[in-house]
This record gives sequence, C-alpha cells and structure tokens, in this order.
Amino acid sequence: MPACRRTPFSAFLPASLAPALGRCGALLLLGLWAAAAGAADIRLGVLAWLGSEEAEVQWKPLVQELERRLPGHRIQLRQYDLDELSQALQGGEVEFVVTNPGHYVALEAEHGISRIATQVSAPSQDPAHVVGSAVVVLERRRDLRRLEDLRGATLAAVAEDAFGGYQLIWAELLRHGLDPEQGQPRPLFTGFPMPRVVEAVLRGEADAGVLRACLLERLEREGTVPPGRLRVLSPRADVGHCGVTSTLYPGWAFAAARGTDPALSRAVLLALLSLPADEGGQTWSVPADYHPVHELFRELKIGPYAFLRETGWDALWHRYWPWAAGLALLLLGGGLYTLRVEHLVQRRTRELSSALAERHRLEATLRSGQEQMDHLSRLSILGELAGTLAHELNQPLAAIGNYARSLLRRQQAGNLTPEALQQAAAEIASESERAAGILGGIRAFARKRSRVRQPCDLAQLVRESADLLRGIQAKAPAIALEDALPPGGRQVLADPLQLQQVLLNLFKNAWDAQEAVGSDAPIAVSLSAGEGRCRVAVRDHGGGLSPELQQRLFEPFFTTKPDGLGLGLSICKTIIEAHGGELAAAAPADGPGLVLHFSLPLAADGESTPP
Ligand code: ADP
Repeated sequence: MPACRRTPFSAFLPASLAPALGRCGALLLLGLWAAAAGAADIRLGVLAWLGSEEAEVQWKPLVQELERRLPGHRIQLRQYDLDELSQALQGGEVEFVVTNPGHYVALEAEHGISRIATQVSAPSQDPAHVVGSAVVVLERRRDLRRLEDLRGATLAAVAEDAFGGYQLIWAELLRHGLDPEQGQPRPLFTGFPMPRVVEAVLRGEADAGVLRACLLERLEREGTVPPGRLRVLSPRADVGHCGVTSTLYPGWAFAAARGTDPALSRAVLLALLSLPADEGGQTWSVPADYHPVHELFRELKIGPYAFLRETGWDALWHRYWPWAAGLALLLLGGGLYTLRVEHLVQRRTRELSSALAERHRLEATLRSGQEQMDHLSRLSILGELAGTLAHELNQPLAAIGNYARSLLRRQQAGNLTPEALQQAAAEIASESERAAGILGGIRAFARKRSRVRQPCDLAQLVRESADLLRGIQAKAPAIALEDALPPGGRQVLADPLQLQQVLLNLFKNAWDAQEAVGSDAPIAVSLSAGEGRCRVAVRDHGGGLSPELQQRLFEPFFTTKPDGLGLGLSICKTIIEAHGGELAAAAPADGPGLVLHFSLPLAADGESTPP
C-alpha cells in the first residue's frame, strides 16, 4: 500500500523505536486506540471560505484519509463561515476545527481551542510561512505597479474579517503608508466566495482585488479566468510557485475544541502527521507558532486586540475598571487607615498633654509644699534659737547704751575729748552693725523664697553658716573646717540658702548633742571630693545614737528633745535629695559622737540655672 511508504511522523518517535515502528506501526496503534475507545462520530468544523460546495470538495479527501486511519470512526464534515464556526464551538457542536490562522487566533482567545497541527505546502514544509495574499489588477493597468499606486483606488476583498482575503494586505498597505480605513484605497467587500473579487476586478468595479495566494493561478488553470487578463501586484521575489504580495504567515490550523478528549486529539494528530500530500500539495505538520498572527492583529488593532482602538474614557473605564476599582479601594483603605492613625495619635497626644499638665500641676503643688516646709523649718530653728537670739541682740544694744551714756557723762563733766568721742561713736557704729548683721542674717534666713540653683562654694557656705550660728549664739562651740577640696572642684550647683539651712541644722544638732554631755570640743566639718561629687561630713563629740535610734533619725517628728519638733533632719534629707545627693548618719571611727554626712554633684564649669 503506497501510504506505508511515507513515514513523516516517525521523526517524532524515539530514535531507537522509529525505524522499527514506522508508519504502519502508527496505524496499528491508531487501530488499537479506536478499538479501545469504541467507534464514534467525530464532528469536524471547517471554514468554508469558498462556499459550502467548494469546502466539501476541498476537505472530503482529508475526511476520507482520516476515516481510513481511525477505524470505526465516522467523520462528519460541517461547513461554516467565520461567525458560524465560532457559534458551533460555543454550542459544543464540533470536536475539531480547521480554519485560517487569523480565525484560529481569534477562536483560541474566545473559546480556548488548541492547535494540534498546521497545514503546510508540500514544497516548503515550513508551517510558519504558508498563508499569503495576492493583490490582483488588470494586466493592462500600467498605472498600478506598486502597493503605493493604490492610493485613491478601489480595492475589492471578500470581507473585512477575512485573514488571507483581506487582513494580510491591509497590514501591507499600512506598512506602505496607506490606510484603507481612511479610504486609501477604498475597500469594496464582495462577500464569499472569493471568485467574486475576481469578477469585481474584471468588470472594472474595483481597481484591484485581494485573493488568497495561488487562487489566481488555480482559477486560470480551471479556465475561470483567462490567463494573462490579471496579474499580481508587486509579487515577492522569494516565493516561486505563486504570485504573493504579502508576507507569509503560518498555515491553516487543525485545532481541538476545549472539551475534546486528549486521547482522541492524539490519535487525530498521529493520523494527520501520517497523511500524504493532497492534490494541491498540502499536507499537515506539527503546529506552527502563531505569534506573528498575534503581532498582525495587534498592528491592525483587531480580533483579541480590538480594545486598543478604544481610547475614550468610557472605553478605558470599561477595560480597566477592575484595576481602577482595586486602586480606589486601596486608596480608600489607605485613607481610612491614615485617618484612624491620625485620630489615635491626636487622642494619645491629648491624653499625654493632659497627663503632662497634671504632672506639672502636681509638681508645682509639691514644690510649693516643700517651700512651705522649708520655711517652717527655718522658722522652727529660729524659734528654738529665739531665747539665745534675744540675749545676743541684747549685748550690742547694751554696749551701744553704755557708750552713749559714757559720752553724756563726759560731756556733762566737761572732759569729752574729740578722741573719746570718736572712739565711742566708732564702737556704737560697730555694735549697731553687728546687731544689724544678726537681724539681716535672720531675716534672709527666714524669708519665703522659691527654688534656685546656682554655683556655690561649699567652704564659703560652711563659713557663713558657722558665722550665722555664732552670731545667734556666741557660746556656740567653734566650727573647725578641714577643707580638702581641690581648687578646680569646689562648687556645687545648689540653692545656697537651703544648703545653709541644712548646715545650720546639723551644727545646731551637734551643739545640742555636745551640750548634753558637757563637751565644748569644736564641731569638725570636713570637705572632700571624688568621682565628680563633693562630700560634706559634720562630726560632733556628743553622746551619739544607738543603731536603733539611728534608723529612725530621718523620720518626721522623731525627736529626743523635750522641746524638739523632730522635723529638722527629715527636711534636710528632702533638701539634699532634691539636690541629687543623699544624707546619712554614721558613728565616728575614733571615739564618741555622731557623723552626719552628705554628698552633692560638683558643678561643671559655667553651669547655672536661673532661679
Ligand atoms: P529636733 O532637733 O527638733 O529633735 P531633728 O530632726 O533635727 O529634730 O533631730 C531629731 C533627733 O535626732 C534629735 O531629737 C536627736 O535625738 C537626734 N539627733 C540629731 N542629731 C544628733 C546628733 N548630732 N547627735 C545625737 N543625736 C542627734
């Protein structure tokens, strides 16, 4: 049998099997498959571009060959035009379709059909370069030589959606600067079958016509067109067998509908690949890449790319509304989130502001309470010292009185010498200054004032406090200052009056403790520095305190004195802590008594805080 001599599909088998299996083996396989699957009708839809009768004639041999290779199957051939074929796929009326490349691409996008083979011309066997178009004109039209000459002419074609019958030439015209949509040339659509186009040109209704490549040659062979009456415009030099004006595109596609059984598709593919070339030299090959057809459609903005023509807002909205809606939702979500965050931030800021205001209010209340306490404490110290204060003031006043009376007596006795007068006046002035000094110190000490921080020389403060104590009570023991502060680290940032209050309190307690045991030893004050701090220690030679009492030393209202308030040390502790220090008590290492000590941070150079 002659068909067994051809083995085109054996090339797709593994090299080891190909020689042994061959085409006869494939037919055996097909037979086995058909037996297993059971005989059934296969509905094959074809595009009848030359009309139903022509299609019957064109595709009947293919149907017969396929039936021979698929035993037990009857193949129903159904002819459709472009729209009917699409509807047939929609309605599930066909398992396979055969159509032109352009229509295939449209149906692939629309109905998900998939190509299993591409028709090729026997001479080239290249499935990617099969379909082309020819522009035919009357031979005698000498004015029509190139595509550009069609400007202003009338161009006949079967239909606007015919791939080889119009669209290939449409794209060629665009590439040559002509646009049929703008009437350059004017299209004249005759409808199928294609020979109507030839008639339009022959009758002079159109200057040129678009035919599928090789149709003119076939019509001339059949005698429908007298040879030499028509010629192909601008024929391509690289295509020899027919006159072709356009670029060549992939051949017709044999495709399976979306729901077709894959086993059936494979069987049909094997049968197609095993077919010999038909009378026109057409056969079937592996499917071609139809990407160039997509490119053509994109260029023409038709088929799956028709949307590219739509540029109005409505069209853009229609095309991109899901994206626009998504974006709008995203923006809305982002906006709502931002608003919520903004709202939370504002609420938190309000809460923080009010908490801060409350804290400032409480601090102010605390500060004013502290100042009140300080003031009361100072008054309390003065109250305790009031008795001796009166005595101290009495002394300068008595001295002043004595000098005044002595002046009077001398003046009455007539022996008031200028020298005596001068000396007495100087003494009176000195005594009154002493009294004024005592009162000034007390007034300053008792004055109500708010918190200040300024660099203070600690040794200076100790001396002034000692003077104040002695000014109030001349019988007070001496204050022995042991100053070990380095020249560059003598100042602390403090409220001088508050530190004076602390020192005076410590001196007074030390004096009380010594008086209780009858000691008139000097109260020792030592100043030392280390690790950025200044340490002050006040040591007395009193009776000291038991460890239990030492623990209660800084409790408010703790006192062992009959007339004591028990507030002095607790206020001192608060003052020292407010300055960043700590007040503590310890038993001296050498003998009886008590050491009260505190340390304060040394002031950096030029550091000060306004009051
Ligand atoms: P007040 O002097 O009014 O009693 P303070 O708070 O100044 O209040 O002192 C509390 C108590 O601490 C004193 O009553 C005393 O018992 C004890 N005290 C303070 N300083 C000394 C000291 N240097 N030696 C012994 N006891 C002291």
